[in-house]
Amino acid sequence: MTGQDALLSKQIVAALRSVLGDGSQSLHEPAFRGNEMQYLHRCIETSFVSSVGDFVPRFEGHLTEYTSAKYAIAVVNGTAALHIALLLAGVAANDEVIVPALTFAATPNAVTYCGASPHFAECNDRDLGIDIQKLRQYLNAITEKRGGLSINKNTGKVIRAVVPVHVFGHPVELDNLMALAHDFGLVIVEDASESLGSFYRGRHTGTFGLIGTLSFNGNKTITTGGGGAILTNDSVIADRAKHITTTARLDHRWKCSHDDIGYNYRMPNLNAAVGCAQMECLPQMLANKRELFAKYCTAFQDIDGVTLINEPAHSCSNYWLNTLLLDCSQHDKLETILAMTNDAGIMTRPSWTLMHCLPHFQHCQRMKLSVAESLHTRLINIPSSAYIAH
Ligand SMILES: *Cc1c(COP(=O)(O)O)cnc(C)c1O
Repeated sequence: MTGQDALLSKQIVAALRSVLGDGSQSLHEPAFRGNEMQYLHRCIETSFVSSVGDFVPRFEGHLTEYTSAKYAIAVVNGTAALHIALLLAGVAANDEVIVPALTFAATPNAVTYCGASPHFAECNDRDLGIDIQKLRQYLNAITEKRGGLSINKNTGKVIRAVVPVHVFGHPVELDNLMALAHDFGLVIVEDASESLGSFYRGRHTGTFGLIGTLSFNGNKTITTGGGGAILTNDSVIADRAKHITTTARLDHRWKCSHDDIGYNYRMPNLNAAVGCAQMECLPQMLANKRELFAKYCTAFQDIDGVTLINEPAHSCSNYWLNTLLLDCSQHDKLETILAMTNDAGIMTRPSWTLMHCLPHFQHCQRMKLSVAESLHTRLINIPSSAYIAH
């Protein structure tokens, strides 16, 4: 380790300590400070713990009210939500779907569940999402139009959809993305798994595309243990989503019959009960997370070589995971910083291994990913729980 490496690492540990105090801190802890116990108790007392019960529609009501989506369908996890969203967006075998290289594996995994292939897009260093301008140039070069669809000239396949990811809660440039999707005949399915509480031009993320998805995994802004939701303003898609996530079972007083291949993806009442209590606490959690970001800004303002990812223009971010970005010249210090912070009991993490570097996605189509590759050597997630320092 050189002296320079150690200096920046020591400054970062000290800055984190000044915000977090002594003791160890994890990256993102769930918090249960509301009516979770009371609502769970009610499930057990009434024996409605599974696929029937009041808390599921009530949780869906919380989600539509908060996001202003017309419809919300609660499901077992965010990955299942993405799977159904892509199916209902018309993604089918032999299609390609544009997905950012910098995301969690669930995004391209869900594409493959539909028999389609992910096609990886470059990211930008402002909001960490898809670089829409570069994607436009790339699609202009590699596609040809046929009947309103964009065909990849290299593979002969239809590029059916684009899945923007609001990485760490920061909204992508949705205006530009919608214009691009329109020009290339792409359906937008928004992976808003990380962005409950994030708005673009005053409108909630996940409500710009034909369909959007949320996740309520244990490390997300709010949790239901495991859970996810499908958001849409389209009543036909909403009915269809509800139907095929409940085994495509036909409504009848005693007969058990189905009219399609369905999925057992419905969120159980127990999880929805926790979700209702969490939604009641969401505004407070978001306020705390915004305050934490402000404290980090102060703590890091005088340290050279590192910046904090800020909410993009026209956006209000939920600050799900606060993120340090090392200057390009400092990228070789990443490992030392990760080691020293974790040794100090402060959990930090690099960003995900890029999707095109995973063995099962190496063969997939992709554009030049030099910014994503650079970002991967420079991003560090730092502790971001809603009640840190509260
Ligand atoms: C959390 C997450 C998902 C969904 O994850 P689940 O654990 O299945 O709820 C999907 N995409 C991204 C980007 C995520 O962060």
